[in-house]
Amino acid sequence: MTSYEVPKGIAASKANENAHVCAHMFIVVGPSGTGKSTLLGHLMDVRKSCGMSRSTTTRAPRGSEVNGVEYDFVDIPTFEKKIANGDFAEYANVFGNYYGTPHSMIVDNVKDGRDVLFDIDVQGARNLKKQYPGAWCILIAPPSMDVLEKRLRGRGTDAPEVIEKRLNTARSELAETDLFDFMIVNDDLETAKSQIVALYDMLALRAAH
Ligand code: ADP
Ligand code: 5GP
Repeated sequence: MTSYEVPKGIAASKANENAHVCAHMFIVVGPSGTGKSTLLGHLMDVRKSCGMSRSTTTRAPRGSEVNGVEYDFVDIPTFEKKIANGDFAEYANVFGNYYGTPHSMIVDNVKDGRDVLFDIDVQGARNLKKQYPGAWCILIAPPSMDVLEKRLRGRGTDAPEVIEKRLNTARSELAETDLFDFMIVNDDLETAKSQIVALYDMLALRAAH
């Protein structure tokens, strides 16, 4: 019998050191209210190989949000100190508040053998892709702008003028098609849940080893 060595995964065989990290990064983008956190929550529930990147923000906690769970909530001086220290892989001002992805979220998750999921805005995804060009970028799109508006109102977390701002931003975000590697239209929730799991499984297999 011929001995056979299992080939190294595609990611590991790439020359670029960063390529290994990139292959384990799944950036999920889409306008506010399209269902990103709902779908990512589901993926985290059913795939224990995933770790969520927790962002740092200066926005105040909403509803039942807890510091250190949904976000690390900090004040503006603390955030600006972190910028000066070079703590962020990317950061942006979104709807008047700072949001940033700490380098440690990427490094620690990948070191521990987890795939890292990001829920960040389009400018953050673009900046992250500059450093990690092979990271996967998945757009969660609403079936229509009317449906998006209904979901934002139904969520009941934003004032009407904030919802108006989010809808205007949504139109320009959806136009940045060059950024997205894949798109899931979140119409029927169960279908979208199956699609995000299937997509993750396929990409994780591609990056294996
Ligand atoms: P995002 O994280 O993109 O801002 P959320 O996951 O908070 O969006 O979803 C916004 C609202 O829409 C929530 O109230 C959520 O329960 C609801 N929602 C998400 N997906 C669907 C869907 N396919 N059909 C109906 N409502 C949905
Ligand atoms: P929310 O206030 O609804 O939690 O988030 C508002 C927007 O900020 C969403 O589009 C979300 O994806 C984005 N966001 C959350 N964390 C980050 C981050 O670390 N960096 C960037 N650039 N955007 C983020």
